[in-house]
Amino acid sequence: MDVVGLEERVEELRETFQSGKTRSAKWRRSQLTGILNLLEENEEDIFKALGKDLGKHRVEAYRDEVGILIKSVKLCLECLEKWMANKRVDMPLMAFPTTGEIVPEPLGLVLIFSSWNFPVGLALEPLIGAISAGNTSVLKPSELAPASSSLLTILVPFYLDNKAVMVIEGGAPVAQRLLDIRWDKIFFTGSPRIGRIIMSSAVKHLTPVTLELGGKCPAIVDTLTSSKDREVVAKRIIGGKWVPCNGQGCIAIDYLLVEEKFATAMVDLLKSTLKRFYGENPRESNSLSRIVNKQHFMRLKGLLNDPGVAASIAHGGVVDDDKLYIEPTIMVDPPLDAEIMIEEIFGPLLPIITLKKIEDSIGFINSKPKALAVYIFTRDETLKKRVISETSSGSVTVNDAVIQYVCDTLPFGGIGQSGFGRYHGKFSFDTFSHEKAVMRRPFLDFNFRYPPWNNNKLQFLRSVYNLDYFKLFLLFLGLKK
Ligand code: NAD
Repeated sequence: MDVVGLEERVEELRETFQSGKTRSAKWRRSQLTGILNLLEENEEDIFKALGKDLGKHRVEAYRDEVGILIKSVKLCLECLEKWMANKRVDMPLMAFPTTGEIVPEPLGLVLIFSSWNFPVGLALEPLIGAISAGNTSVLKPSELAPASSSLLTILVPFYLDNKAVMVIEGGAPVAQRLLDIRWDKIFFTGSPRIGRIIMSSAVKHLTPVTLELGGKCPAIVDTLTSSKDREVVAKRIIGGKWVPCNGQGCIAIDYLLVEEKFATAMVDLLKSTLKRFYGENPRESNSLSRIVNKQHFMRLKGLLNDPGVAASIAHGGVVDDDKLYIEPTIMVDPPLDAEIMIEEIFGPLLPIITLKKIEDSIGFINSKPKALAVYIFTRDETLKKRVISETSSGSVTVNDAVIQYVCDTLPFGGIGQSGFGRYHGKFSFDTFSHEKAVMRRPFLDFNFRYPPWNNNKLQFLRSVYNLDYFKLFLLFLGLKK
C-alpha cells in the first residue's frame, strides 16, 4: 500500500472515534456482521491466499483460521450487549449510601500487528475484540504472508467501515512509522525480539500494550504403559507439532521431555504415526504446510547443521534447498547448549530430551524462560497437579496440545518472555476496553469523615472499616459535629 498520507489517514480514524460513532452497539454489530460476511463470502479466496503463503491445506486453513474466526464473531454477536452492560458492584459501608458500577469504555484508536504463521486468524481475531469493544483500529498484517496481507487489504475496506478500520501493509519501515504515532493501545503478535521494540516505542506515549509472543513450549510425556494411550498421545503430539503450520506455531510443541527408558518407544510411535498422517514421503503430502520463506528455511537448516544436533537425529533430517523443504525430524538428546535448545524452533524439528525420572521435567522447565504453553501427557494425577502448580506458563494443557487455542472461555496469552495480556472471547473485549469505575452518591452526608477530628470519630471509623455494626450504632447516636 502507498503509505503517503499515512499519518493523516490515521488521524481520520481518531476523529471517527471522537465522533462517538463506534460506541453504539448498532455500529459494533454492523462491523462484526461485516467480518462474518467477509469470512463466509470469501472462504475460497482465503484458502487460496493461505495456500500461496504457507501451503496450508484448506482443511487446516478452516480448522485453524476461518472456522475459529467465525466462531469468535458469532460469540461476540451473541454476547455483545451483555459484555457492554454496566456491572453493578457491592460498595463498602464507608461510602454509604452509594451505588457503584463498572462501565466498560472503548480505549480509542488501536494498532494491531499480526504475524505470518496464521496471517488471517491472528489479524482478525484481535480486530474482532477491538471492534466489539467499540474502538477504531489499524491493522498491520505481516509482510511475510503477502497473499493474505493483500487479500485483507482488499476485503476489509469492502466489508468494514473505512472511517474506522484500516489495513496498512508493509514491513519494518512502515511498522516503525506507525509506532511513531500516538495510539490508545498496541496489540502485538510476534517475536520477543520485535516485542521489545514495540514496548520501547510505546513508552513514548505511555501506550498500553498486549504482547502475544512466542517461546519454547515443552511437552512432558510420561512413560505410558497402555498401547491405546500411547497411540492417542502420538497423534496428539504430531497434532501439536507438525499439524499447525508445520511446527510454525507459537503454541506448537517445541520439544518433548520423556524418561530415558521411554525414548526409543516414543520415537517409534512418532515415526509410525507420521507415516500414517503424511505417507512414506511427507514431501509429497498436501497436508503438511511449508516453511514460510528462504530466510526461515536457512535458520532451521542452521539449527540442524550443529554437529551435536546432526548426530542426535533419530528420524528425518532430509533437507531440500530448492523446495525449502525439511522433513519432519526427531532428535534424541541434542546438546542442551545448542541453538535448537535455546531459541524457539518454529519449524518441523522435534528434539526429545531424556530424563531419569519424569518428575525431573518440572525442574527442567523451571530452569528455562516461561513458556506460552506447557503440555503434560500422563495418567498420574499427582504429576498433573505438580506440573500445574509448580511450573509457570501462559497455559497448561493436560493430555493434548494446541487445542486450548479454540477454547474462548479460557484466556489466551503469555507470561514473562512469552508475553503479557490475554485475549479470546470476553477476554478480547476486556483487553480492548477500559473498566471505568463509576460511583453515584446522594447529598445525604455524615460528619465522621470530616474534621475537626476527635476520638469518637476515630472509634467510628474503626467500626466502619471493621464492620462492627453494634458499636457503630452506639457511636452514631453519640456522634457530635
Ligand atoms: P515478527 O516479530 O518478526 O513480526 C511480527 C510483526 O511485527 C509483523 O507484523 C512485522 O511486520 C512487524 N515488524 C517487523 N519488524 C518490525 C520492526 N522493526 N518494528 C515494528 N514491527 C515490526 O514475528 P513473526 O516472524 O511474524 O512471527 C513469529 C513469532 O511470533 C514467533 O516468535 C511466534 O512464537 C510468535 N507468535 C506468537 C503468537 C501468540 O499468539 N502468542 C502467535 C503467532 C506467532
